[in-house]
Amino acid sequence: MKDIVLIHRNARMLDNPALFHGSKNQDYGVIFLYDQNYWQENGKSEIQLNFLLDCLEDFDGKLKEKNSQVCVFSGNHFDLQKWIEIHFPETIIHVNHSTDIGYFRNDFNNFRDFFLKKEKIKLYSDFGIQVQAPNRDKWARDWEDQMSKPLLKEPYANQNIKKIDKPLEPLNLFLKDLQLSDKKYLSFQSGGSDQAYSLLDSFLKERCAGYSFKMSSPHEAEHSCSRLSPHIAFGSVSLREIYQKLLAELEITGHKKDLYSFKKRLYWHCHFIQKLETEPELEFCSMHPMSDELRHDVNSELIERWILGETGFPFLDACIQYLRKGGWINFRMRAMIMSFASYNLWQPWQKTSPLLAELFVDYEPGIHICQVQMQSGVTGINLPRIYSVLKQSKDQDPNADWIKAQIPKISNICTDKIHNAELRDLYFEKIVDPALTAKKARETIWASRSDIEFKKIAKEVYLKHGSRKKQNVRF
Ligand SMILES: Cc1cc2nc3c(=O)[nH]c(=O)nc-3n(C[C@H](O)[C@H](O)[C@H](O)COP(=O)(O)OP(=O)(O)OC[C@H]3O[C@@H](n4cnc5c(N)ncnc54)[C@H](O)[C@@H]3O)c2cc1C
Repeated sequence: MKDIVLIHRNARMLDNPALFHGSKNQDYGVIFLYDQNYWQENGKSEIQLNFLLDCLEDFDGKLKEKNSQVCVFSGNHFDLQKWIEIHFPETIIHVNHSTDIGYFRNDFNNFRDFFLKKEKIKLYSDFGIQVQAPNRDKWARDWEDQMSKPLLKEPYANQNIKKIDKPLEPLNLFLKDLQLSDKKYLSFQSGGSDQAYSLLDSFLKERCAGYSFKMSSPHEAEHSCSRLSPHIAFGSVSLREIYQKLLAELEITGHKKDLYSFKKRLYWHCHFIQKLETEPELEFCSMHPMSDELRHDVNSELIERWILGETGFPFLDACIQYLRKGGWINFRMRAMIMSFASYNLWQPWQKTSPLLAELFVDYEPGIHICQVQMQSGVTGINLPRIYSVLKQSKDQDPNADWIKAQIPKISNICTDKIHNAELRDLYFEKIVDPALTAKKARETIWASRSDIEFKKIAKEVYLKHGSRKKQNVRF
């Protein structure tokens, strides 16, 4: 075998650089590395693994049409390295870059460096992320260039037909051995390129109508947002393909405003991931280092009530119940959930972030961790926004129908009481006073920001990570 294509996330046929280039000699194996420990790490969960397995199954079926298949190697990168050295010492490894959590980065980097020394590995870029010397001043232009490149075709067919009868010996697992109980995840999004294309098509043609304002309500967003996030995160469709189809649709659509709003978000996707790529320490440390001094005391009981959706605030609890059931909720509600944990409960984001991430099917560390930091007021370059859970309740669900659907036991209670969280012994007791805690948080955050040293460091943070497109930056 001349080439190995190593799959971490991009389980797709089209516009997949590692797969396309790895297939050129028409003598290749496709390996998915299954590392059990990785799935226990910072924010990773079985919910996401289940989605990825759907994608791999779909990918495997399509590869079979090219005389290839997905083979599973169970172990870590070091185990894989030893296996390749023994069985395929002359083979070239092809892999797409992936900006991921520290566990993956450390494990993969050792593997990469080992094969780089031997000139046996080829690395390809992913999304619009710049790995070599990213420069924020010209980042947006480089991103456009990346997104405008022609799409890579499907892989060449494998001519080494013998291999298809059995997995590459002695690979230890079959894809079907990894399958989890289907029933557990029936209410979650399913993976695979066919699902991704169907969502993309229905969004661009129909569902985008009203997207730019419907996206704020959790009820309307379910149908009016693209719902492509897990597909983008696990790569069942390429971001470049989405972007190019969007540009074509923009020429003819009657929903220009909505689709321009969507276009902006595709850019944000990479803008956020770039921050973690540039500064991997952000997984554990606040973007503005002085912000790590703000919250020291951890209250595990408060955190548990928050993540279980038992805070005594019906709208907030409904959002968390909804997220727990389906693995997704809209942007505004994610921001409110996080703002409550960081401002009202005053808990360190490092403790709450992984618990929330585990619930998302679309967990993308670069976006999640940077958004969590933004919604916790620790970046130093974004204006802190403290969401009122009572106001959001009235604004997003005026008749409280959606809240009642998520929490049936309060369906007979009058709407005002639900919005104001005045349910006394009919529901959970409120875990904090929202007005008092928000006031205290606001004063503490702004006091820390008035420090001259804080402002000086904030400028440095902006130069490293700040988007040159937006204007809402204050030091
Ligand atoms: C605390 C918090 C955590 C988040 N964690 C994640 C995460 O782990 N993974 C994730 O994909 N998104 C995350 N987001 C961003 C956003 O909420 C989701 O991308 C969006 O809700 C996904 O639904 P959609 O695909 O229908 O989005 P659409 O509105 O249809 O947007 C299309 C795509 O643009 C990207 N995008 C949209 N909004 C943002 C944004 N604000 N920042 C960066 N990219 C964006 C996503 O890739 C998304 O799929 C988070 C937001 C917050 C506030």
